[in-house]
Amino acid sequence: MHNENLHSSIPNKSKRVGIIGGGQLAWMMAGAAESLGIELVIQTPSPNDPAVAITSECIFASIDDAAATTKLAAHCDVVTFENEFINLEALMPLVQEGVCFQPSLAALAPLLDKYQQRCYLQEIGLPQPNFISLEGQQGVKEKRSGGNNLEFPLVLKARRQGYDGKGTFIIRDSQSLDDPWQQLEYQPVMLEEFIDFERELAVMAARSVTGEIVVYPVVETQQEEQVCRRVIVPAEISSTTVAEIEAIAATLLSSLQVVGVFGIELFLTTGGKVLVNEVSPRTHNSGHYTLDACHTSQFEQQLRAVVGLPLGSPTMHCTGAVMVNLLGYEDSQNDYLEKRQQLANLPHSFVHWYGKSQSRPGRKLGHVTLLDKGDGKLSNKHWQQEVIEKVESLWYG
Ligand code: ADP
Repeated sequence: MHNENLHSSIPNKSKRVGIIGGGQLAWMMAGAAESLGIELVIQTPSPNDPAVAITSECIFASIDDAAATTKLAAHCDVVTFENEFINLEALMPLVQEGVCFQPSLAALAPLLDKYQQRCYLQEIGLPQPNFISLEGQQGVKEKRSGGNNLEFPLVLKARRQGYDGKGTFIIRDSQSLDDPWQQLEYQPVMLEEFIDFERELAVMAARSVTGEIVVYPVVETQQEEQVCRRVIVPAEISSTTVAEIEAIAATLLSSLQVVGVFGIELFLTTGGKVLVNEVSPRTHNSGHYTLDACHTSQFEQQLRAVVGLPLGSPTMHCTGAVMVNLLGYEDSQNDYLEKRQQLANLPHSFVHWYGKSQSRPGRKLGHVTLLDKGDGKLSNKHWQQEVIEKVESLWYG
């Protein structure tokens, strides 16, 4: 699928890439942009957003402000996304005016609403939990009286704007349905089967303008209270499961004819089945390890794809890696310099600090990736356990 020889062609004239969203995902594109000779222009609401520090040109506006995107596009060859909470309809007329979005708006259209995304995945035959949409009080009555074939426990999900588990609720029984839905102001939501998974997995994949597809190693992700805490690479799964996941990624990206990088979150059930949880049409937390562990990071890959370069190699240059998110655990403006230095002193450790001015419990402030260079005496599993405990005890105390 991937051609190792395509790695090195660099554009001979500098390109300007507009990015909608200025969070840490845009911030982490800086290194790759510099080495590829690409200039980044960013549309983001606040001067305090992480990516403002890495670009000389910013448009300060909400990411769903299409008028601001018109201005952004006027400065760029191509516009891409680090956040999918956009107003797709408002952006459509810009395509007629000649603005080039990568991924295209058509590729994004089936993915932005969680219910529509499930319908699309069903259409292209990918395995996933059973699901229904729930609209209006009538729907609740039907659900209470068992008026569909989904059994409790269920998972209720807001159809839009959900992230880090916000907008996702596990519903144990019919009495527990009303409260979370009321919190979502009775907007249409999705109900899906609760999957008693053995593990959660994820994979990053990219597709180029010529239709070349590369798939990164499959990783294990560990969530606590629905927020990603750690990523372990590669996931310890059979080669059959890896092949199944690679096929899911290739089917999805080629069906959408997408150009860019996508993250796919998956469940591995206790019976060994793979089910798609969610598709993110952008770089993703489960791919942060690629910055330090792979020949081409997910951020470089995104830029290569959208400016029309051949894709780089997604393979690892080490035996394994562990990525631990540094989540806020208090309200503070501390920059935690001392703790960051201690983390950076661990062997083969790479600390990435997003420069957010305010810490809050659960907020993603940075991450650390530790590489297994195959030089330790411990088995891979022991090494993973040991570094996770070390990092989390240094960080959370
Ligand atoms: P978000 O978009 O907020 O990240 P997700 O749909 O990825 O929301 O859900 C967050 C977490 O909630 C998942 O990583 C998983 O741990 C849990 N979860 C989501 N859907 C299900 C499900 N159908 N069955 C069991 N757990 C689920």
